[in-house]
Amino acid sequence: MDKLIIEARINEYAGRGQNPNVPWNPEEIAEAATQCREAGASIVHFHARSKDGGPEHDVAVYADIIRRIKARSDILIHPTLGAFANDGDASQRIQPILDLAKDPETRPHFAPLDMGTTNIDAYNSATKSFRSDEVVYTNTTKTLLYFAEQLQAVAVRPYASLWNVGFTRQFLAFLKMGAIAEPAFACLIMTGDDLPSAHPGTEQGLDAHTMFIPDDRNIQWTAMNHGGDLLALAPKIIGEGGHVSIGLGDWPYLELGTPTNAEIVVHVAEVARSQGREIADPAEAAAMLGVQV
Ligand code: ZN
Repeated sequence: MDKLIIEARINEYAGRGQNPNVPWNPEEIAEAATQCREAGASIVHFHARSKDGGPEHDVAVYADIIRRIKARSDILIHPTLGAFANDGDASQRIQPILDLAKDPETRPHFAPLDMGTTNIDAYNSATKSFRSDEVVYTNTTKTLLYFAEQLQAVAVRPYASLWNVGFTRQFLAFLKMGAIAEPAFACLIMTGDDLPSAHPGTEQGLDAHTMFIPDDRNIQWTAMNHGGDLLALAPKIIGEGGHVSIGLGDWPYLELGTPTNAEIVVHVAEVARSQGREIADPAEAAAMLGVQV
């Protein structure tokens, strides 16, 4: 079995109410990335955050963060496109990644391609109501083909985010037509009860994803659970040859105390080793995923 790739999903737009170790500013993000690399992660996924933790879309801040990360470790870099920066046209949405890719010091290794359109309204199970009711994450086929072509041109690998089986089928169509090159990297998205748009973070939710990942394609898959606890599923994911995308961006992981992102990575690495699976370093992960470092 391939070595395990651990992707540290260090912050998303998580608050600090339950776990204060969520990194927000560039220095905190770079430090978390460095610690996660030492703990066994080979990819870091991050969102730039403003001083008060809100979304930050300034490309200069992304450049600052990536420079700081690259200055101290070889961890592979996966910034967001900006989940809420989706109201621009396709060229505006991808431009920050293309700008970052021009300079070796700021070039990311991955950019996310969410392979379809979905509602992303949060549900409040306490009040049995939605917090919003018109938030749509729009990714037309034309936009996705354009993103894939642009990323290919600057040698940034697409990170295919698959919210459900329809997304998987769209992803497979892109592979068949050559719009996404193999080896391809896909993230099987599961979500907690507060975001019912993806598969649930259960064995059945995972199985319903993996049964549609074909064996006759060169695909490496990872799995995440946003708004839910992935640890219970980690042995199953690791045992089935998947990779693990986990961190404080998704869940506070208070069963480990008040862990840092690196402490969560250490825990996943221990689970993997106990199952006899070795951990990939960034160079090994890059080779498995067709990443140009
Ligand atoms: Zn993200």
